[in-house]
Amino acid sequence: MTNSTEITWQNWGRTLTVHPNLIVAPTSAEEVCEVVRVAAAEGRRVKPVGAGHSFTAIAEADDILMTLDGLSGLLGVDRAARTVTLGAGTRLHAIPAMLGPLGLAMENLGDIDAQSIAGAVSTGTHGTGIGFRGIAAQIAGAVLVTGRGELLRVDARHSPELLPAVALGLGALGILVEVTIQCVEAFDLHAVELPEPLDGVLESVFDRMFGSDHFEFYWFPHTDIAMTKTNMRVPAGEGRAPLTDARRWFDQTFMANGVFRATCALGRALPAVVPSLNRVAARLSGSRCYSDVSSSVFATRRTVRFTEMEYAIPVDRVVDALTEIRAVIDRSGWRISFPIEVRFTASDDLWLSTAYGRRSAYIAVHRAIGEDPRAYFGAVEEIMRGLGGRPHWGKMHGLGSEELAAAYPRFQDFLRVREELDPDGVFANAYLRRVLGDHVVASGGAAERHRN
Ligand SMILES: Cc1cc2nc3c(=O)[nH]c(=O)nc-3n(C[C@H](O)[C@H](O)[C@H](O)COP(=O)(O)OP(=O)(O)OC[C@H]3O[C@@H](n4cnc5c(N)ncnc54)[C@H](O)[C@@H]3O)c2cc1C
Repeated sequence: MTNSTEITWQNWGRTLTVHPNLIVAPTSAEEVCEVVRVAAAEGRRVKPVGAGHSFTAIAEADDILMTLDGLSGLLGVDRAARTVTLGAGTRLHAIPAMLGPLGLAMENLGDIDAQSIAGAVSTGTHGTGIGFRGIAAQIAGAVLVTGRGELLRVDARHSPELLPAVALGLGALGILVEVTIQCVEAFDLHAVELPEPLDGVLESVFDRMFGSDHFEFYWFPHTDIAMTKTNMRVPAGEGRAPLTDARRWFDQTFMANGVFRATCALGRALPAVVPSLNRVAARLSGSRCYSDVSSSVFATRRTVRFTEMEYAIPVDRVVDALTEIRAVIDRSGWRISFPIEVRFTASDDLWLSTAYGRRSAYIAVHRAIGEDPRAYFGAVEEIMRGLGGRPHWGKMHGLGSEELAAAYPRFQDFLRVREELDPDGVFANAYLRRVLGDHVVASGGAAERHRN
């Protein structure tokens, strides 16, 4: 393989700038195998990337960067089983158009749809809903290229014991080329969004999460206001009342992105005004009620860039967590312009899932690009760790393999699978060495990293 020069790759959150030696864009699984075989023979490393929406350096390609965009699209359908097989590079926003004509939908989604399906599952991307699991738990099977350049099929009939590792593999076990998703019958969501007093939301948080399908809220720091979002699942098309184009533009383009961008800039220039800006923002958020196709309600558009840390904690600790975070912000003198996002999921059985073995509450904190997140994220991280927290693999955190091994009962099993599938560390990078340990080849790299 020859190297190219002067290539620069950046992630969405601008926490990572990489200068890979080579970018490859295979269009078939055989080509992926060939790249990995050559790389392994030459002692090189390959890193598949999706949409670059991870804030951590998990997708850092310090040698060969592989994009899977050439392996996208619908590859197969089993309507009776409600499964579809997709190329691993398929972007989430392309999936509804494939599932819609089949009368199918993904069971749950996060709050954006820019990611690739492989990238989303590899970091444990999740949405909200105490009865629903993250996207990786919807994976019924996968085909991946191992560190020896061999194709491996994993599903209920082929190496099923590997599925709990491969479905959420941090990009450490191989390059996914196909994924099979367990879908559900298409459904709509009836959405109710309104600002409410935070104390009232915390007092009734368990009733709200168990009494609805998808509940989440955003607390505006320095205020007593939380924006609640409650979505109920209804049969597709029943009483559908979508937002008008004008309202969608006003809410998403003007308010959520345009006005929010301006208030963030103002808050950065004049931190003292952040509490007042947050009060105004909370009030302006307004109420709305609508229903639409599930994928349109789950996903929003984010154009204001930020950095983010998110921890999963046992669901019954959510009020303690918010109370402690509120106290630390009050004590600190920081001016936090971004709302704190609180979501919930069911437990699952994927070995490195943040929701492994327990119903989880997710608490996400953000800072605008250009603001140093360390003091704020560090303080929140300490609180989360005290509550048994597990960090999102794709969002900033400061943990290493020892702490993570203690947080995940099947951590050693995952390492054994990694040893088996990638014995020479073809898929290793600095982030994986930090979070999984350094059992495979060490390497140099040409990346500039911030704390992520
Ligand atoms: C604005 C924004 C909103 C977000 N919202 C949410 C949310 O609601 N919920 C949530 O949980 N997270 C959320 N995230 C985090 C995001 O979903 C994850 O970081 C996700 O991994 C990004 O997917 P990606 O395609 O960009 O993957 P990348 O960041 O490019 O890669 C992530 C990992 O996947 C691996 N990978 C990519 N392709 C393959 C492949 N073919 N085979 C094997 N490994 C592969 C990479 O090597 C890397 O390890 C958000 C991020 C942003 C920036």
